[in-house]
Amino acid sequence: MKNNMNGLPFDFSKYDCRLYPASVNRLNEGGWAFMAEKNGEDMLIVMGTKAGEYEGRHFENAGFDCVEAPLCAANAKTLRRHFPFTAPVPVLRKDRSFGLGDRLGIAGEGHLQAIDEFDAYPVLAQQSIRELDLTQRSYEEVLDAASWAVFRHGYKRGFGADGDHLKKPEEVEYALNLGFTIITLDCSEHIRNDVNDMSEEQAANECILSDELKQCYLWKQFVIGDGINIAFNEDSLRRCVLIYSKAIEYAAYIFKKYISEKTHQVDFEVSVDETSAPTLPMQHYFVANELIKRNVKITAIAPRFCGEFQKGVDYAGDVNRFDDEMKVHAAIARHFGYKLSIHSGSDKFSVFPSIGKYTGGRFHVKTAGTSWLVAMQVIAEADPNLYREVHKYALANFKEAAKYYHVTTDISKIPDVDKMDDNDLPGLFSQNDARQLIHINYGFILTDKDDNGNFLFRDRLYALWQKNKELYANRLKEHISRHLELLYMGWRT
Ligand code: ZN
Repeated sequence: MKNNMNGLPFDFSKYDCRLYPASVNRLNEGGWAFMAEKNGEDMLIVMGTKAGEYEGRHFENAGFDCVEAPLCAANAKTLRRHFPFTAPVPVLRKDRSFGLGDRLGIAGEGHLQAIDEFDAYPVLAQQSIRELDLTQRSYEEVLDAASWAVFRHGYKRGFGADGDHLKKPEEVEYALNLGFTIITLDCSEHIRNDVNDMSEEQAANECILSDELKQCYLWKQFVIGDGINIAFNEDSLRRCVLIYSKAIEYAAYIFKKYISEKTHQVDFEVSVDETSAPTLPMQHYFVANELIKRNVKITAIAPRFCGEFQKGVDYAGDVNRFDDEMKVHAAIARHFGYKLSIHSGSDKFSVFPSIGKYTGGRFHVKTAGTSWLVAMQVIAEADPNLYREVHKYALANFKEAAKYYHVTTDISKIPDVDKMDDNDLPGLFSQNDARQLIHINYGFILTDKDDNGNFLFRDRLYALWQKNKELYANRLKEHISRHLELLYMGWRT
């Protein structure tokens, strides 16, 4: 077969592979590059003078120098140099953006199929340090997986790379050096969690308000639009100072040291969501105002919202109260000109319309765990016995895994997989306790080894995902689209 996409002269009759048609691209200096599947594995094929710049097996086809380049780190780097659309850009400042953490490095295709239907910009490379540790991956691998996915799918609108929940200066440096375009600074270690339990007297003893702070905040109303006012009294101001002042100083320090003078554009997100108590709207206002006073250019802030945002399951809490507070949080973000970032956004279907509505369609929502859960649902569908094995392992490991994530899973509510029909296994993924069981165990499932040093599940899982990649992409597309549809519905109606 001779294929003429973009004038591609490659003679496929001499090379047994399956072409990804959307991946055919011309190189500026002449030649072509495209991706294909050969013997069950994806690779990049480059034709023409640039072929020499890639590592791999060199051969001739249709009179051109060609290379069959494996999807390795060196080749990903060269790809990003030749095709800038495969490198991340700052997308957080766009009106709508959506975080799509891919812990497995194989979700990109499904993510892009979902994103194709919406104008939101995807953050395809997005992992926290905790996720890297638990999956034993590096930021290089996370970014490379996104670059390959974008190239294979022919997606050229731009995507972001988020160093998510970074806590230490060296983590920020690591992500920036690789060209990550979002730094999400997790300030939780600098936030005091004991202040909410203090009496007014205790708080007064611990915090003497400076004249400057009093002048700035007391005896006035801050009008932030939509008829919303914020006001502080001495006690509430003291509590803001006690809880957040160290976090504010830390965020300002990181911004000045690493981001303000960075050569490539970087979005700076400040996250205060991993705390014991919700961020009150006035506290959100205080944090933003103090950061701006210190010349920090914030692209987004992630407060902790009221109610429970547990991983991989729907919102739990008072939806009316959530509505009321979302309205104020969104107004504060609009007032200062940054975006509201919603973390742990996987499967929060009951509050997506509210987020879309009150942010007026200017939002950033992060998901990650849900793409892992869809991958495991595919396993349940494709190989019920392997799924049972993994499931029982996760049950035995539950206590250990629960140390890493805050969940209220009740494993006694999960049906016995040995007594279930094969066909019923995928249905476990509509039950919250089973979802959370599999969610919090991802690191163990992916990296645990037997006594001989072989992976317990990893190799078998990846082989099955490779075999069922269309199924995974379809399921993901469907599931991620449901998130976006509800967000857009809230905003457009
Ligand atoms: Zn978070």
